[in-house]
Amino acid sequence: MDKNHRIVLAARPEGAPRMGDFRLEEQDKPAPQHGQVLLRTLYLSLDPYMRGRMSDAKSYAPPIPLGEVMVGGTVSEVAESAHPDFRPGDLVLANAGWQTYALSDGSDLTPLAGLPRPSLALSLLGMPGFTAWHGLLKIGDPQPGETVVVAAASGAVGSVVGQIAKIKGARAIGIAGGPEKCRYVVEELGFDACLDRHDTDFARKLAEACPQGIDVYFESVGGEVFDAVLPLLNDGARVPVCGSIAHYNESEGGQGKDRLPALLSALVFRRIRIQGFIILDHYAEGFEPFRQDMSRWLREGKVTLREDVIEGLENAPAGLIGLLEGKNFGKAVVRVGEKAQLPKANNASAKKRKLRSPNDSLIN
Ligand code: NDP
Repeated sequence: MDKNHRIVLAARPEGAPRMGDFRLEEQDKPAPQHGQVLLRTLYLSLDPYMRGRMSDAKSYAPPIPLGEVMVGGTVSEVAESAHPDFRPGDLVLANAGWQTYALSDGSDLTPLAGLPRPSLALSLLGMPGFTAWHGLLKIGDPQPGETVVVAAASGAVGSVVGQIAKIKGARAIGIAGGPEKCRYVVEELGFDACLDRHDTDFARKLAEACPQGIDVYFESVGGEVFDAVLPLLNDGARVPVCGSIAHYNESEGGQGKDRLPALLSALVFRRIRIQGFIILDHYAEGFEPFRQDMSRWLREGKVTLREDVIEGLENAPAGLIGLLEGKNFGKAVVRVGEKAQLPKANNASAKKRKLRSPNDSLIN
């Protein structure tokens, strides 16, 4: 009998997660009951929010219980179906988590069709792309000629933020960890400049790259990057706060530098608007317009996103630990399985079938 391999949360991390905080388990593959499908994971998305879900500190989402499967978005293939709307071989966007097989009643599945490659549903055309689109356009509101500074610029969200800023006629200045990432951000993503956050002269070089100051700062990082940005924010600057990854591994009550007085003064003196957001709140009204914009830009060759593919479910813990240290280069995804080769007739019937989800396909 086929087995399900799954990675569960074995312990809550103190500081940075360690390999011992995860446990690989083997169980029998579950069987779908009436109205259910059995999903086989092809790609698992690795995202910074997973660090938050490993902790039981109060947050916008509940913690993963100890001993439970790590959560995560997936591109999955329907392996078996007892559901009228799904056939074996269908590709879906799912929330199967860190495991090779999972059951679903179909309510959380988005059928995928017409994508150049399925993993795009986890990157450009999925949650990270939507996060970039929403945060930049709905909060940052960049105007032609303005300077937009983007933290973690070679990563899943940051890459897209800078490319959209360019589409909107703004100057895009990236910040990334290391010369290779910075070269990629300028030469392949088309940012106007990129600064290495590890450079000892980073703050001065950032100021040089922004001679007119900063109008929009897309914040994902916090820490020393924020220290360098704050003095450069212009009157009326907008700061969409997407995340603060430099602090995710700090244990509760950690005594970091107190940035509050400087921040509050700057907010008042320079009439800065700073607004946090959680992308989960915006799917109902925003995902469809995002999908239309992004699929058009993708077709026109105006956006790209590098994927950092980790092979094998067993390497997901090291992948997440590395992501929190800046080791990923592009959108981190784990290749968990390959799509099964189906008989042609089966594929054809899947294409003709009426799909149930409003997101019939992720690309126009
Ligand atoms: P990335 O693909 O950008 O990977 C994380 C990157 O963060 C690393 O590659 C590294 O880039 C950078 N980083 C890691 N540690 C530090 C540090 N100590 N100081 C500075 N930079 C660091 O991740 P995502 O694009 O998926 O996520 C980016 C941010 O967006 C995160 O803060 C995440 O939590 C947030 N987010 C928020 C959402 C929301 O709804 N608000 C939704 C999705 C993401 P480098 O070394 O190049 O600097």
